[in-house]
Amino acid sequence: MRNVRASQLIFELSKAGRRAAHLPHCDVPCRDVKELIGDEHRADAPPPLPEVAEPEIVRHFTNLSQLNMSVDTHFYPLGSCTMKHNPKRNERLASLPGIIDVHPCQPDATIQGLLQLLFELQVMLGEISGLPAVSLQPAAGAHGELAALMVAAACFRDRGERRTKVLAPDTAHGTNPASARMAGFDTVTVKSTPAGLVDLDDLRAKLDDQIGVFMITNPNTLGIFDGQVAKIAELVHARGGLIYLDGANMNAILGITRPGDFGADMMHYNPHKTFSGPHGGGGPGAGPICVTAALGEYLPVPVVRRDGDRYSLDFDRPRSIGRVRTFFGNVGVLVRAYCYLLTHGAEGLREASALALLNANYLLSRVRHILPVPQGDRCMHEFVASAAALKKERGVSAMDVAKRLLDYGFHSPTVYFPLTVPEAVMIEPTETESKETLDAFAEALFRITEEPADLLHEAPHTTPVSRPDEVQAARRTILKWTPC
Ligand SMILES: *Cc1c(COP(=O)(O)O)cnc(C)c1O
Repeated sequence: MRNVRASQLIFELSKAGRRAAHLPHCDVPCRDVKELIGDEHRADAPPPLPEVAEPEIVRHFTNLSQLNMSVDTHFYPLGSCTMKHNPKRNERLASLPGIIDVHPCQPDATIQGLLQLLFELQVMLGEISGLPAVSLQPAAGAHGELAALMVAAACFRDRGERRTKVLAPDTAHGTNPASARMAGFDTVTVKSTPAGLVDLDDLRAKLDDQIGVFMITNPNTLGIFDGQVAKIAELVHARGGLIYLDGANMNAILGITRPGDFGADMMHYNPHKTFSGPHGGGGPGAGPICVTAALGEYLPVPVVRRDGDRYSLDFDRPRSIGRVRTFFGNVGVLVRAYCYLLTHGAEGLREASALALLNANYLLSRVRHILPVPQGDRCMHEFVASAAALKKERGVSAMDVAKRLLDYGFHSPTVYFPLTVPEAVMIEPTETESKETLDAFAEALFRITEEPADLLHEAPHTTPVSRPDEVQAARRTILKWTPC
């Protein structure tokens, strides 16, 4: 193959013009890519790529991929941000030509199938959340938070109200206060009780007529469902504020309860966590938001609309906060979510949540004898253990334990979050792991706590890179690749 230039071949293929979208519901003749992209926009020379033989390139990328840990190679009990069930079939479906060959500027009439899919996804997400107005536009959970807070701000503006504050518990993910600041609110932290629930007295003390939104993650980042949430919603609503539900932990409550039913006015999903989107290396994600019918008119444009059996992108929404992202959102992630939801159906989703809870509680019952779990005899989909005693008695930190787990073939859990637990080790097994894997993980954790401290301080011993200087890396990030 050496005598055929690969980049030339690819260039010729693309020049020949692939067919544009062709989905089952598309009854309008498809147009050639050539017609859609004018000559002036097409390159006239192939890109300067290095020429190597296939075995060399396969080995290069295979070896690179094996330097990392992934759900395909190792148990990955990250906590909250964990990628849950990640079926390969969804990858195949999201790569169908009718989806990946669509050009974002194609007229609606030529992408009816894709629009129908997105419309049905809006309906399903609305139904699962109990909040019927849905936007698929935001590109990640944090982006969903920002978009929803902008929706809230637009609503307050319309009501002629000046509301300046967003409240969030001290167990909140850092994106909550960050999004609030970006949306122009001041942030106020509400304390948690020793049991890990919202401290209602502290909340009452901080509630006033300036309250815009209370952001709550439920179950929270400690893996506890806060049963006071309806009461909290009542207190906040009585002051004219809104409740935002951070939906990162939705995998614990699918089909069991709905945010709209326990008082939330707005929420985001993280389909790249809950609904099978892969998110290695920090992306890509999506952050669909659902809001009450009353807030629906403020959602970002476009919203996918159905009129009879025709689907379109609706931009004609005068009270909308406008665009938050280009084109239709991160469609690939949304398609995977759609496939996941249809595959499971209502009963299957409830079962996935039940299994996530069962696995987490089983692992909790094994781990709490090794590392104490300050908030819990029971948990939802995850729990947070503490290495504080280990640190005090033997000088072994949560970081040492997490790094040593890599040597045992387990991806490190999230450490030092949530901030309310000293030497926190956050563990989420997900619904897909077997009892054997969970037992092996607990066994590894037990053996680690018995090992010499010096060995642990130096861990990991088996990975290509041991301990990077994280402070240095954050302060003086070098993003440029230099050949060795
Ligand atoms: C992951 C996460 C977020 C942010 O979501 P992204 O999709 O990473 O932007 C917010 N809150 C919680 C609790 C999370 O776990």
